[in-house]
Amino acid sequence: MSRLYILILPKGVGWCILAALGVVILLALYHNYPLGLHALSLLHQEIVYDVMLDAGHGGIDPGAIGAGELYEKDYVLDIVLQMAAILESRGLKVGLTRDSDRDVSHLVSEGTRHRRDLLGRFKLMNQAQVGMSVHANAAKDSSEAGAIVFFMKDSYLGERYAQLVLEELAKVQVLNERAPIPRSTLLLLKARPPVVLVEVGFMSNPADLAKLGDPQFRSALAQRLSQAILHFWEWRHAEQSELGPQPLQQP
Ligand SMILES: [Zn+2]
Repeated sequence: MSRLYILILPKGVGWCILAALGVVILLALYHNYPLGLHALSLLHQEIVYDVMLDAGHGGIDPGAIGAGELYEKDYVLDIVLQMAAILESRGLKVGLTRDSDRDVSHLVSEGTRHRRDLLGRFKLMNQAQVGMSVHANAAKDSSEAGAIVFFMKDSYLGERYAQLVLEELAKVQVLNERAPIPRSTLLLLKARPPVVLVEVGFMSNPADLAKLGDPQFRSALAQRLSQAILHFWEWRHAEQSELGPQPLQQP
């Protein structure tokens, strides 16, 4: 025998829920409010990747420009493509915000190109269990050199992840900052999964620029950054046993 259960809410509560949903959808439709987009992404976006890798900039946005018309967008794409191959060989499902010289602004319809690009990357980050955005820096002071790792302020997972990334980077690159830096203003760090933003060096520093121009150095960076993600992946699945064991394939 089947029974029909009907959820009866007081009239006021029902209207409040409807109004709240309406506001969320309106904000998301305008695409101008990351909060609205974030809320909608939590409702509708499935986690489809283990790892999302973001090569900064692309297309008409070169990112930092080094002496001799060398572009950040090209170096970080090379690093990220190598990382994807390494992580996939270990059995992880890897997503890329871009795999060629383009930006990601086509994923969002409203706002300036820069804002659409940023929100497009944010949207993709929310489809993974862990994310990394790879950049190269520039400063007015050309003596500034080395790597910096940013994580979401007050995020326990983010800080742990950032620490692992910094430890691996220190094996192949000097560090600009000896500890990961908490930030609450970078949109990508606010994504649902733990995300770190890595500056692998300064395009404005001659020594760093020479390193970044060396394919072997970029491969070493890709190895170390991938290793950090693998360490974090294993640590997280051991730490949070409710996620279940996720053994990685042997290299
Ligand atoms: Zn950048």
